[in-house]
Amino acid sequence: MLVWAPLTCLASIVTERGVRLDTTGAFYRAESAISRDFAVLAAAVHAGADGAEDVGRPTRALRVLDAFGGCGSRSARYLERGVARFVHCNEGSDELGALIRANLAPYGTEGDTWAVSHVDAHALLLRNVGEYAFDLIDADSFGLSARALSAAMWSVKLGGLLYATQTDGRAHTAPERCLAAYGAWPAGSSATNPAVNEQAIRLLIGRAVQEAAMHGLIATPLFSLYARHGPCYRSMLALSRAPSRSPQLRGRLGFVATCGACGQHAVLDWSRLGAAICPNCGACGVGAVPCAGPLYVGPLHDRAFVQRMRCVAGAWGDEYAPAAKLLATLAAEAAVEGVAGDAPLFYHAHSVASRAALRGPVRLSALVDVLQAKGWRASRVHFDRFGLKTNAPVDAQVAAARALAGLGLGAAPARPHSEQIVVPSSPSLPTSVDPNPL
Ligand SMILES: [Zn+2]
Repeated sequence: MLVWAPLTCLASIVTERGVRLDTTGAFYRAESAISRDFAVLAAAVHAGADGAEDVGRPTRALRVLDAFGGCGSRSARYLERGVARFVHCNEGSDELGALIRANLAPYGTEGDTWAVSHVDAHALLLRNVGEYAFDLIDADSFGLSARALSAAMWSVKLGGLLYATQTDGRAHTAPERCLAAYGAWPAGSSATNPAVNEQAIRLLIGRAVQEAAMHGLIATPLFSLYARHGPCYRSMLALSRAPSRSPQLRGRLGFVATCGACGQHAVLDWSRLGAAICPNCGACGVGAVPCAGPLYVGPLHDRAFVQRMRCVAGAWGDEYAPAAKLLATLAAEAAVEGVAGDAPLFYHAHSVASRAALRGPVRLSALVDVLQAKGWRASRVHFDRFGLKTNAPVDAQVAAARALAGLGLGAAPARPHSEQIVVPSSPSLPTSVDPNPL
């Protein structure tokens, strides 16, 4: 007689980057391996593994908290690469305790190299302060991450790292949910705004930046990562003390306005909300430009840190080749990002082709090359294989696409590179142009 056993009773053994993991009965997603690659690589750089003499070998070991442990896959990955001298793996379900211990056993002894607990992650984060604080907190929470962000600020060391995660796909599209999670208005759906995934990460970072400011800290993204499965939004944040307790939020928190007529994005701060018209087409009347935010409007990656991660990934060989390949795209993004308040924003090549009235898609790499040749900052992005980020206004993108198709410049007007959101003269509103170029 054939007897069907419950799925959770079937042993499920996987090997991830050389780490053997028993995932039986635990939540484990193989697609997230690359996000774990990035976490371990960032930890390695933080631990000095990008040194000139022995690339790939950490010079100091970190104290790491894996706040939402699952089967212990992240904890095992940190230990296997020697970037952590101690990993605390916390998993809410005590039924997974034996599984986690078995997965971590090859990398040291319990109590000495690693520990396992089964408590509420937020309570754990709130009690690990001072000498018990961590060099790196990996908060791979399920769903909304706002509570974890807030609690983690108490238990990450000054100068430490926080790996923030958001896996609730509605948190940046459903207004009520976005307001609850971030205190912000969402970017809209992918049907109405192709930049929605890029702006979702900006919402996540924006919340972290605000939480850090309340603690007298500055949160700076070292890299930001979107994954279609889930979807998952992540950012590794470096936390440093704010000088003179100044929150340092101007130019980092703001709004992204998107013209409903031509798709032009622009960064606004509070003082210009409701007083802007689209600089590209002028079709939007005063107060009619939809805005998402407040969200983070600075660079999504630290260029030097990403390059150091690439260096370590190269030293670690073929198993980290997928991470190295993705890091190359992030490095290209970082190379054009500029400084806080000056980040080029996301556009979709299909939208550009449509606005250019082309009969087919525009070649993205050629479009990026043409925009760069014209003096704009432009790069491909990891968010979408047909996406780009650029500070070129939409009419310049359309002109470049039409030129590539042999249609000439068409009706797109030439515009100076310093194009700005225009603020109409008003006795009650500032009349100066935004100092930050689009
Ligand atoms: Zn417009």
